[in-house]
This record gives sequence, C-alpha cells and structure tokens, in this order.
Amino acid sequence: MKIDRIDLYHVAMPLISPWRTAYGEDADIHALLCRLGSGSLEAWGEAAPFAAPCYSAESAGSAFLIARDWLAPAVLGQAFDRGEQLQQAMAVYKGNPFAKSALDTAWWSLKSINTGTPLHTLLGATRDWVPVGADFGVMDRIEDLLPHIDEAVSAGFSRVKLKFRPGWDIPVIQRVRDAFPSLTMHVDCNSGYTIDDLEQFRQLDAFQLAMIEQPLQHDDLHDHAQLQRQIETPVCLDESVRSVHLARQALALGSCQYMNIKPGRVGGLTHAVAIHDLCQQAGIPCWVGGMLESACGSAHCTALAMLDNFTYPADIFPSSRFYDQDLASPPLELITGPDGTPGVQASSELALPREDLLQQQVLQQATIC
Ligand code: MG
Repeated sequence: MKIDRIDLYHVAMPLISPWRTAYGEDADIHALLCRLGSGSLEAWGEAAPFAAPCYSAESAGSAFLIARDWLAPAVLGQAFDRGEQLQQAMAVYKGNPFAKSALDTAWWSLKSINTGTPLHTLLGATRDWVPVGADFGVMDRIEDLLPHIDEAVSAGFSRVKLKFRPGWDIPVIQRVRDAFPSLTMHVDCNSGYTIDDLEQFRQLDAFQLAMIEQPLQHDDLHDHAQLQRQIETPVCLDESVRSVHLARQALALGSCQYMNIKPGRVGGLTHAVAIHDLCQQAGIPCWVGGMLESACGSAHCTALAMLDNFTYPADIFPSSRFYDQDLASPPLELITGPDGTPGVQASSELALPREDLLQQQVLQQATIC
C-alpha cells in the first residue's frame, strides 16, 4: 500500500445550532479531511479539532498546515503495512495529534478497502453493535434542558452527559437528579476548573454521577490524581490524554478511573487501540468520545467503539442531531439494540465525503503528490 497521492481539505461544517461548552461556542465544526491514494484505491480520514485552539492546542487550520507542510511529505511515496510504521514516519514532528489522525484514519480506511476487511474487524473487534449516550450542551435555562433529557430517557438512551461550567453547574445537576433519580449520567467540565475547586467536586459526590469528565486543566495529570484521591465519583480523563505515553502516565499516577478515547486527540486509530489495550490491562474501562465529526469520522469512531474495553456508552451521534446535511454519505443513523437502547452498528462500508458538499464547505485545499 504505497501512498502516492494525498489530498487535504480544511472544511467548515455548519451546525443546526451552536455547540456550547466550557471553552466557548461553535456555529460550525472545522475539520481536516484527508484522502489517501494508492494506485487505483483511495480512502478518507477525518480529524475535527474545531476552528479555534480551545479544546486543545490545535485548530483545523493548524492541522491543515502541519499535515500539508510536514506530515504528508513524510509519508508520501512510502508503503506501510502497519499503523505503527505510519506513526513512526510522522514521529519526528512533535505533538499535533489531530493532524496525524487525519492521515492515520485515512490509512486504516485504505487498509480496510485494500484487504476487504471491515475496519472494526481490522482493529480487533468481535462485536458489531454498541450503545451510545445522549449529550446536552449548555443551554439558556434549566427549563430548556429538562424536556430534552426526558425525550432521551423515553427514547431509551442508557446514559446522559451534561456539560458543566461556572453558571451551569451544581444547581443544574440538582434539578436533573431530582427529576430523574435513577438516571445514569455524568458531567463534562472540558478542563474548566482547577484543584482549588475541590469543594465543588466534593459536593458532586452527592449526585451519584457515573463520572466527572476532565474536571481540571487540559494538560494536567498530577492534580487529577490528587482530586481522584479526595472524591468518590470516578474521574474520567479526556483532554489530558493526547498520546500513548500520557495514557501510561495517567494510569501509573491514578489520575482517573475511566478514560475517554477520541482518535483525533491521540493521533489516530493506531494510538487509540494502543491506549484501549493499556487501559484494559490496567482494569480501567473506556468509552469513545466524539468531536462532532461528519459521518466519515464518525464511522472510524464507530469501528473503534466495538473493541471489548469500551464498556460505557459512546459519544457517537446520528448525523441529524447536529447537521441538516452531513458532509459525508451515508449519514450516520442510530440502530436500536435488542433491548430498545439506541446504538451504532459497525459497517463494512465507511461513509465518504460528498463531492457537492465538500466543494461548498471547503476553506483550504492542498494536494501532495
Ligand atoms: Mg469531553
């Protein structure tokens, strides 16, 4: 599988309504799409670090430049049999996991097509359906949130995730817990707090949350370990785990009892599988997170989520949840499981960007060949 052509697209995908988190608000999702060509074969990858470097140090614009100027030239003309070899070819360039993920996920898609093997099977999965959760961003009023949760519970979602930030915090959780006493739910702080907020996290112990996701700084492991020792609710790391090395350190320090794994944040599927395996060996359960990718990136997340140690319902959303028209086709739809729970089904056909929408939504494009 010699890589002989690489096309990169920085796209802005308009959302139905803005996505509000602890770090801001996005009206459209900026992503990097990558098409790898190998002879007559071609395959797509996607990474969605957003428009501004607020979720992490990367933006879609920076990922586009790093991929165009450094990563693509480093892998062009080379043949890789394993994901680790591809990663090795990019390893001299530090960090930039989202940029690397666009190439890595495209390479796994290419391997799937080349070998005629479904992606989830290539990654080592033995199941083809998993449940997903329902997520709700910050809203104007608590009264706006409760009907949405009610709807999710009626639809059979097995867990709910709420964003958590100053001004949208304990009183919101109190109201939700009062209204839904037995609901499995957790909060995502998107690194909006510090260890000085320990008392607030101690108060959260009263609400039987499944976990508190990324409470502290985006690059911290030490304070999370300190927090975890002082509260009962499990801590889950998201932003802080950007590499296999950091995952190993987090496990050694006891920084979390859950790990959220997103292919984009850790450099692609190669590292996502390695982190999954490390967590499994350490007895730490995982779940797959999302960056509001198109159906193309969501298909990679779906394949990953089939691995055994992803035991908490994933953040993988149907296309219609965020987009009027998904950039990729077919759009992702939820498939109800035997017990009535919404979930996602792994497929042997990965979703591909639509040429018409790609042309409408592209901001920058480059071809390296
Ligand atoms: Mg998160």
